[in-house]
Amino acid sequence: MRFAAPPYMNDVLPYPLAKDGWLHTARWRYVEGLFRDICRRYGYREIRTPILEQTELFARSIGEATDIVSKEMFTFTDRGERSLTMKPEGTAPAVRACLEHKLFAAHPMLKLYYVGQNFRYERGQKGRYRQHQQLGVEVFGASDAAIDAEVILLAMEFYRALGVEDQELHINSVGTAASRPAYREALRDFVRPFLAEMSVEGQTRFEANPLRMLDTKDESDLRLLADAPRLVDFLDEDSRVHFETLQAYLTAAGVPYTLDHRLVRGFDYYSKTCFEIIGTKLGSQNALGGGGRYDGLVEECGGPSTPGIGFGLGMERCLLVLDALGIVLSVEDERPLAFLVTLGDEAKVRPAAVKLLADLRAAGLAADMDYRSRKFGQQAKRADELGARYLLVLGDGELERGVVGLRDQNTKEQSDVPLPEIIARLQELAP
Ligand code: AMP
Repeated sequence: MRFAAPPYMNDVLPYPLAKDGWLHTARWRYVEGLFRDICRRYGYREIRTPILEQTELFARSIGEATDIVSKEMFTFTDRGERSLTMKPEGTAPAVRACLEHKLFAAHPMLKLYYVGQNFRYERGQKGRYRQHQQLGVEVFGASDAAIDAEVILLAMEFYRALGVEDQELHINSVGTAASRPAYREALRDFVRPFLAEMSVEGQTRFEANPLRMLDTKDESDLRLLADAPRLVDFLDEDSRVHFETLQAYLTAAGVPYTLDHRLVRGFDYYSKTCFEIIGTKLGSQNALGGGGRYDGLVEECGGPSTPGIGFGLGMERCLLVLDALGIVLSVEDERPLAFLVTLGDEAKVRPAAVKLLADLRAAGLAADMDYRSRKFGQQAKRADELGARYLLVLGDGELERGVVGLRDQNTKEQSDVPLPEIIARLQELAP
């Protein structure tokens, strides 16, 4: 019997593979670290929620008609007959947690971020997986468009810090739940005469979720929709002012933007602002991430009326984009600084080596040794495999003289260092 990871789920590995080098934990940690650092600077605090939630939470918040809820959730009944779902997104769980712990009452304005795993039963393809990780933020309690601008700037700064300079910001407004039905009908009226010519997907969306017809990559549908009515022409006064204010803030912050009338989000709970960041030097998979406002979500989940806005960036997508752009991250160096090799009388030398190694590590130095008691040459080879910068040689002779041999693996120069001085010496040499 041979086992494999579930389909379209990735292992992230301790060593980079020749193919799919992006599935390397060091890269993931680097990106997560950078995201955390930016969030801290912007005043966001981390939230972590369970991987499972009551199924009803997602059905209610995301919407029954969406692809996610209707066909992509990993849902099962637990041993207590509860219907649970592995979270397909991070916003509704954050809202649930804030409500459960009364955070909205204690902190009328909440700025949160998360790094979490999402599960969607997708038709797998490059860049789309059934488990993916999102880096996201959520802000609750502020309806001023200045916070919309902040969230957008944060997302763009994140990509810039990773080295992605060529970004384009697309924005749109989907109005409010109250103003949307009129637009929905106008869009249906526009499409109805040529509905039969639309793709199967377009026809399904026509019935279930008409706004999503706009969010298509089908060339023929795009042509048919070219002169479709625009959301911005149907906005209620409040949404219109909000959208104009956002544009003024973006202009003030020196951020160019494009009005994208076809930009809508997949979930029902979005209102007003929608945005997407596009990588201009990428091919068809050019979305770097996006988000939007969801002023109705907290109420939908049983809480007080609370405005909210957020975004989610896919980690896998982000790493693939960096690869596509040839951006090399300066990831954490996981190589040991020193590698201890022993020779001679094992009964005497090994205990001293174990002690020395413990002392080096306690002093904060990355040090290792070979635990397979082999020949000197084999131990040295292991040091090379790990990329150790210095070899520490401990044999009978060194023990008697109270020294350890210190060999620079680059220059191959070796000298004796008195044992009590070795830690200080390595600390000087550490990068
Ligand atoms: P969404 O939650 O659908 O708005 O997606 C937000 C971001 O998550 C997208 O821009 C993608 O980068 C990423 N994403 C969504 N679904 C997947 C998936 N199935 N596999 C990988 N990344 C995904």
